[in-house]
Amino acid sequence: MNEHDIPEEFYSFESNTPFENCIECEKYLLEEGTEYIIEKALKSYDGFSAKDTVFDYAICMDCADRMRKEISKESWESMMKYFQENMDIQGRLEMQQNLPTENLKSCMVKKTKIDDCREYQIYAHCRGNKLNMDNPPYMISGEVMDELLHLLSEKTIDEMNGFMNKHFSPDPSLMEPTPPRLILM
Ligand SMILES: [Zn+2]
Repeated sequence: MNEHDIPEEFYSFESNTPFENCIECEKYLLEEGTEYIIEKALKSYDGFSAKDTVFDYAICMDCADRMRKEISKESWESMMKYFQENMDIQGRLEMQQNLPTENLKSCMVKKTKIDDCREYQIYAHCRGNKLNMDNPPYMISGEVMDELLHLLSEKTIDEMNGFMNKHFSPDPSLMEPTPPRLILM
């Protein structure tokens, strides 16, 4: 299997080094074989190529599984259905063969180029200090984030906001015009 180091795109904004601990339980993540997810939300401004990190974190599989269970079944099924209907499965398989950073250049669902996205989120599934390329890294555009948000129940949105409020106090200017949202997949 092709092994890749974690690209700098997925480094912690705060330390500019790989994430070392789970945001929920503090588990050390860089141990060989430890599985975890990194999520980052970024935003750019019209006419500027610089990106601001709205939030970023790493979460171990145990904590991610626990959080998934808190998401209502209906919301979960709607999200899965959305990806089934809107995503090209062959393309997703091809992403396993791409260079990881190649996958971040356009939205996995809409194919929008990163430079045309004002907001986007990137995800990586890691194992120790490597990427898990069975589930290759991807980017989703703000447009997809909006469509997903509409599929979620109030309860699920409350759970997500609870997680955000517990861990982050983003700069309010970054939250305009739309707040960041958390999608765990
Ligand atoms: Zn954890």
